Amino acid sequence: MSQSFDVAVIGAGPGGYVAAIRCAQLGFNTVCIDEWKNPQGKASLGGTCLNVGCIPSKALLESSENYERAAHKFSAHGINLQGLSMDVPVMISRKNKIVAAFTSGIAMLFRKNKITSMHGRGAFLKGGTGGEVWQIEVKNGDQTEAIEAKYVIIATGSTPRQLPFVPVDNERILDNVGALALTETPKRLGVIGAGVIGLEMGSVWRRLGAEVTILEALPGFLMAADEQVAKEAQKIFTRELGLGIQTSVKISAIRVDGESITVEYTDAQGAAQKLEVDKLIVAVGRIPNTAGLGAENVGLQLDNHDRIEVDSHCRTNLPNVYAVGDVVRGPMLAHKASEEGVAVAEIIAGQAGHVNLDTIPWVIYTSPEIAWVGKTEQELKAAGIQYKAGQFPFMANGRARALGETSGFVKVLADADTDRILGVHMIGPYVSEMISEAVVAMEFAASSEDIARIVHAHPSLSEVLHEAALSVDKRALHI
Ligand code: FAD
Ligand code: NAD
Repeated sequence: MSQSFDVAVIGAGPGGYVAAIRCAQLGFNTVCIDEWKNPQGKASLGGTCLNVGCIPSKALLESSENYERAAHKFSAHGINLQGLSMDVPVMISRKNKIVAAFTSGIAMLFRKNKITSMHGRGAFLKGGTGGEVWQIEVKNGDQTEAIEAKYVIIATGSTPRQLPFVPVDNERILDNVGALALTETPKRLGVIGAGVIGLEMGSVWRRLGAEVTILEALPGFLMAADEQVAKEAQKIFTRELGLGIQTSVKISAIRVDGESITVEYTDAQGAAQKLEVDKLIVAVGRIPNTAGLGAENVGLQLDNHDRIEVDSHCRTNLPNVYAVGDVVRGPMLAHKASEEGVAVAEIIAGQAGHVNLDTIPWVIYTSPEIAWVGKTEQELKAAGIQYKAGQFPFMANGRARALGETSGFVKVLADADTDRILGVHMIGPYVSEMISEAVVAMEFAASSEDIARIVHAHPSLSEVLHEAALSVDKRALHI
């Protein structure tokens, strides 16, 4: 007889594992099914985020930034280093240890919360009984087990989008998996796609000495970000970091000849170009992962982007079946996935789970960092919303000066009539940490006046947000 559970969660990324923990906290007998294997072939919980995404990329960004500081910034503090060198295998092994600590930490949390963890691919079997109980097959190699559950939470995440003429082998042509595992700095690195992964991974290897060229199809740069922030970022990334960024390119072919890879493309002027590199990262977006889930067995509905169709409560078209994270609409971000996981567990328990997609913060961990929440200026203009803008530069902030990190600014956008904050955009040091104040403000429907009247510690980077809020009403003090 198959094992029976209250809730089956398929996928143990930040959407699935958090949903499983919250379900267990709420008293449900919960199973979490996940098929991820680490390079040693062992089950590894945490999904894309912990294994080959957020955590390992941030580890490498930190290591490479430390190297960059030691090489180029310490001397301004009077710290002179001789014989500085970078041991890339040590950096990679530090990253692997951080990943292992977190993935095994989730296994420990599962044990603590009495969650049953099953390794293998989970798929709906035909003949779910219309909501009474769902039959799920868990396949691990040639072993198959069937379970049943009253509720199902699908959290199967996403996988890298492939370009048809670019064969990723993760040796020479890399997706995020290979880009996070290089054991030496390539002399020449090509990146297809100037999105979040392209910029973060390009930054890591550029700081460690690679000559990096990023080829972007769109005419603009970081088009999801506020235009002014994107322009500032492009200027800093090209002039200060030395990333070669070309927009409006159309890639026509990729050739691998002996040791080198040739990318053939036309540039913004339509002229034919060739780029020769030693390694090539392909980072052109991610696609929802619904393959092998048995969606067709039960009539699970997908939308026109192949995501699982859900309503604002993450309900699918099937009774008692929910879906969260990268596999559904909304930004592909770990914190969004986790919050949806919590919300669904609480909805199943009859509580009022909810995620506000309008206040999800975005962070890009380049140097300087980029962060935003809410609407951009271009979105407000397109929607015909009247707004006021206030802005303040890090250059005029004492803490930023002491850090030696003075690039960038904070911009606050507020409704012209009500002063309610509609968006906050940041580029500068540690804005990944500063953006939370703006998220809290927006969740509480704050006005720019509210932030302007709150006491901010001195000297702190948060004063830049304070001054930007004051500047909405043209009363910034230190400029
Ligand atoms: P995933 O993390 O993709 O997890 C899905 C899990 O389900 C996987 O383990 C998969 O193997 C498993 N699975 C799939 N199908 C089945 C099946 N049928 N049966 C069993 N198991 C299955 N986001 C941020 O917010 N901040 C960052 O800094 C950040 N950095 C990133 C860096 C990189 C390089 C990448 C690639 C992504 C990054 N992201 C970041 C995005 C983040 O990783 C995703 O948004 C997040 O992992 C989505 O969580 P999820 O639970 O929906 O899916
Ligand atoms: P992305 O959507 O951020 O960027 C992909 C880029 O590739 C776009 O600019 C797109 O125009 C470009 N592109 C598409 N096809 C192309 C082609 N044929 N030639 C040249 N350029 C092409 O996607 P990504 O960088 O792959 O990252 C995927 C997702 O992972 C992100 O959108 C984000 O949701 C998540 N992520 C988040 C973080 C973070 O939060 N810091 C970090 C990494 C990844």
